[in-house]
Amino acid sequence: MADQVPIIRLRNLRKEFNGTIAVAGLDLDVTEGEFICFLGPSGCGKTTTLRMIAGLETPTVGEIYLRDRRITHLPPQQRGIGFVFQNYALFWHMTVYDNLAFGLKVRGVPPAEIDARVKEIAQSLELETVLQTRATRLDLSAMQRVAMGRTLITQPQVLLLDEPLNNFRPGLRENMRAELKRLQLNLGRTMIYVTHDQEEAMTLGDRVLIMNLGRVEQLASPRQISQHPASLFVASFIGRPPMNFIETQCRIEGGRIFLAHDGLRWDVTAQREAIQAQALQGRVIAGIGPADIYPAALAPKNAPVSEPLRAQVDLVQPLARQKIVELKIHDLALKMIVPGTFKVRPGEWLDVVTDNSALHLFDPVTERAIA
Ligand code: ATP
Repeated sequence: MADQVPIIRLRNLRKEFNGTIAVAGLDLDVTEGEFICFLGPSGCGKTTTLRMIAGLETPTVGEIYLRDRRITHLPPQQRGIGFVFQNYALFWHMTVYDNLAFGLKVRGVPPAEIDARVKEIAQSLELETVLQTRATRLDLSAMQRVAMGRTLITQPQVLLLDEPLNNFRPGLRENMRAELKRLQLNLGRTMIYVTHDQEEAMTLGDRVLIMNLGRVEQLASPRQISQHPASLFVASFIGRPPMNFIETQCRIEGGRIFLAHDGLRWDVTAQREAIQAQALQGRVIAGIGPADIYPAALAPKNAPVSEPLRAQVDLVQPLARQKIVELKIHDLALKMIVPGTFKVRPGEWLDVVTDNSALHLFDPVTERAIA
């Protein structure tokens, strides 16, 4: 797969609207069959990027390629790219059959072939029993499958989806997410999927492109992003609750390197190389996930844990089978996740430790990861 020509290539793609930079020069290679999620807060440029790939917006600068073909200025219908909108854009007065058939009819495909293809797509999307039902009478799940089917039947090489699960209530949304992933694996189609929901992106995507202010913050697998967030923005955007950040001063004592904040000290000698340049400057932002802080009694046996830190419990919130504990350590407020069975009350004092193998280090000036 590695030496294949990417199915989609974006080169320095940029879009401005009356002086507002929506997308600030984006490069991306999408491999055939890949599921890529664009993730980021509202207004970061996800939809604009998708619309440029679809041909619904013209880039201010930059190029888009479908395999070897430059498609930057081709009209949408000549690109071989399908688009599923958030509101599905179904023909509500028509049956499922006619909705599925529509795209082929307008292309002048012979009726017998249309019939065969409608039945085939209906089978793969489990819509056979509702083919004669009007779109208005469908449940949300079936509407979503019809919207996908309507696009897939025209055999696009790439399918673009813009927040297609937004209208679903929680619960159904998770079911649909699983259904969508199964569908993508069965069909083997390349999909680019826009969402502002980090959980959705991290469960669906083979790779996730995290955007902020029209720029790429990180493009990597969900696992790489969780384990090695490339910037403070990424680290604060993913994970619930998000990572704790602590401004620290770098100190070298007796050949060992410490990050210190007030009475807190982390031994980061093992990350010597990564922080060497930073050490000269002195300040480092340390990030530690709530699941990587432990009550000292529950410290993992084989992990390089910090010296115990004395903390006062500020607040305890249940979270499914766990609890989020808000701690005060000197002037710092930190969140820690503990098992639901761990007994802890507000006001209580606790010794806690951090797993230093999970400590992330960020440059306070560039806000990029330095580890
Ligand atoms: P959302 O999830 O809210 O749609 P997004 O990440 O998809 O956010 P875009 O819709 O791509 O972001 O918008 C990026 C920026 O471009 C925003 O500042 C937005 O206001 C602006 N923008 C998008 N479309 C237009 C337009 N047609 N005219 C003017 N500005 C626009």
